[in-house]
Amino acid sequence: MVDKLTVPVVVDAPQHAGLSATLDYLSERALAPGTLVSVPLGRRQAAGIVWHERIGAGADASRLRPLAGVLDALPPLGHAWRQLVAFCAGYYQRSLGEVALAVLPPELRRLDDAQLARRLARLAASTPPPPPAADPPRPALTGEQAAVLRALADADASMPTLLQGVTGSGKTEVYLRCAEAALAQGRQVLVLVPEINLTPQLEARFAERFAGRRLVAMHSALTPAQRLRHWLLAHLGLADLVLGTRLAVFAPLPRLGLVVVDEEHDPSFKQQEGARYSARDLAVVRGRDARVPVLLGSATPSLESWTRAQQGRYRHLRLTERVGGGAWPAVRLFDLGTLPRAQPAPPLAPPLLAAIEQRIARGEQSLLLLNRRGYAPVLFCSACGWKSGCPHCSAWRVFHKADRTLRCHHCGFAERVPRACPECGNLDIDALGRGTEKLEEQLGALLPGARIARIDADSTRAKGALQAQLAAVHAGEVDVLVGTQMVAKGHDFRRITLVAAVNPDAALFAADFRAAERQFALLMQAAGRAGRDAAQAAASEMWVQTWHPQHPLYAALRAHDVDAFARSQLDERRAAGLPPFASLALLRAEARSADAAEAFLRAAADAAAARAAALGVRLYPPVPPPVARVAGMERLQLLAESASRAALQRLLAEWLPQLHALRAQHRGLRRWAVDVDPLAI
Ligand SMILES: [Zn+2]
Ligand SMILES: [Zn+2]
Repeated sequence: MVDKLTVPVVVDAPQHAGLSATLDYLSERALAPGTLVSVPLGRRQAAGIVWHERIGAGADASRLRPLAGVLDALPPLGHAWRQLVAFCAGYYQRSLGEVALAVLPPELRRLDDAQLARRLARLAASTPPPPPAADPPRPALTGEQAAVLRALADADASMPTLLQGVTGSGKTEVYLRCAEAALAQGRQVLVLVPEINLTPQLEARFAERFAGRRLVAMHSALTPAQRLRHWLLAHLGLADLVLGTRLAVFAPLPRLGLVVVDEEHDPSFKQQEGARYSARDLAVVRGRDARVPVLLGSATPSLESWTRAQQGRYRHLRLTERVGGGAWPAVRLFDLGTLPRAQPAPPLAPPLLAAIEQRIARGEQSLLLLNRRGYAPVLFCSACGWKSGCPHCSAWRVFHKADRTLRCHHCGFAERVPRACPECGNLDIDALGRGTEKLEEQLGALLPGARIARIDADSTRAKGALQAQLAAVHAGEVDVLVGTQMVAKGHDFRRITLVAAVNPDAALFAADFRAAERQFALLMQAAGRAGRDAAQAAASEMWVQTWHPQHPLYAALRAHDVDAFARSQLDERRAAGLPPFASLALLRAEARSADAAEAFLRAAADAAAARAAALGVRLYPPVPPPVARVAGMERLQLLAESASRAALQRLLAEWLPQLHALRAQHRGLRRWAVDVDPLAI
């Protein structure tokens, strides 16, 4: 009989989290770390990955079960990939196997070795795109772009670069030139973007520049078969460029030579369930470990990245001028306090309306930004005080006039709008406040004959709808575009000469400590939509309707001064002990009753209290998040804060096994999770 070897395997089994990183199985032969296998797990069969070198069969090898299968056809996942997964699991406090298997294409688990071998043979035989007949044209570099590229060329590859460039300053051309250099050295390039909606434009530019190279996309809108194909092309080293959303940070790339993170400040890079990782932060880790340059690009860098650049931990390069000399739009703060009191208040101040009318008369376009979709955020009965609350959440249901529904934006619960107040029968129910649907309707009345369009999550639900609507804007078939933050990002509108933020004040006083940072980024991005065409740039304007024209956020917007805004925000964060001056983690709990969730969190806090005090980690009492109840579940959270990231990490590593054990004693608890570096608290 052949001596069997013990192989350590990771599997996606959360119940093992915090207990043991790997499970041992018996194998007939040695298997390289990174080999995909299937193993018996309880009564089922599960996919797993061999994680370490084999270890000699121990004394209790007789109790181990043999592997169920080995996917030999797939080359093993490399050391760099396993290192990234291990970092992610450790830092974000998840099990190794959960992270490792969650980031693989699901199709991979369904194929047996023979099926996989056939797929791989087909891929290897498939011909790459033919080289282009002629070199694609490259625009001449601006002086600033050339200087940035020179600085990058003799850079120390282990230090990430923050490329802070105003909208329209040609950051993408810098990405393209860096990619060109990496490809010329036979390396692969990874480009991360925050949203799927932004991938087609960037993909088109990369495809045009790198005709003849194999470029693959990675995002959640791919079919399972496409996702597997693209992943395999990356893993086999057959794809030269991978362009994708946050999950793409885990693409196995054996020849990786450059990582680009576009719009690095965007909150979409943070995963909001499972392993709540930041793809931006993992990209930096991946680049550091692989000694590969990482380029973080943004017009409004995250305060974390900006601070690291100020501290000299990132190189800080800047593009301050728009390509082609386009001017920054003049920012006009309109003080709503100067309007005569009227009931109800008009959606647009008369001077703003007049400015839009002028644009229409000149054949130019205007963009109105209102970050609230639907018709009205709440319906209200003035006779009895009834409001359109959601029965399942502590939130109002939004009135959508187009399909006459009341819809909860938290749990999705929707009903027909009642004809009369459900409490008292009053027929006269009011719509309070204003969403994009209502603004669109009101503009129709204020600007008769104008062609008005709306782009938000509701208007773009159908496949292809967003592309069709954007095409209409580009073709000049729209005079006034109403939209949420969806329209502020990335789109290269050539005919827009006026951008207006209709109601941006709420973020100034929000409880969320990042609300002002996000709002500033959004307004700067929106402003960047105006005057993209240099010929019209001088006449372009951004209007802000506000009750607080003296607010420092608007002063920085008006001066177009990202650094001034960053400094003022960082002063507040320093005083309040918030990131980047402190590290945070949230322990979240969900249960049918708030008491059950709170009992778990209090027990968790008690279990950690002594260690937390010794390590200098502060544990706050459990509190409900801003929307406490969602879909019938009460949610509470406990904040852990420390000036030292390492101390917080140590506490979490010791705490997690205790939490897994505690969970068994709290039967009423539905779910719990740890969120390291949460976006909001
Ligand atoms: Zn009523
Ligand atoms: Zn709801």
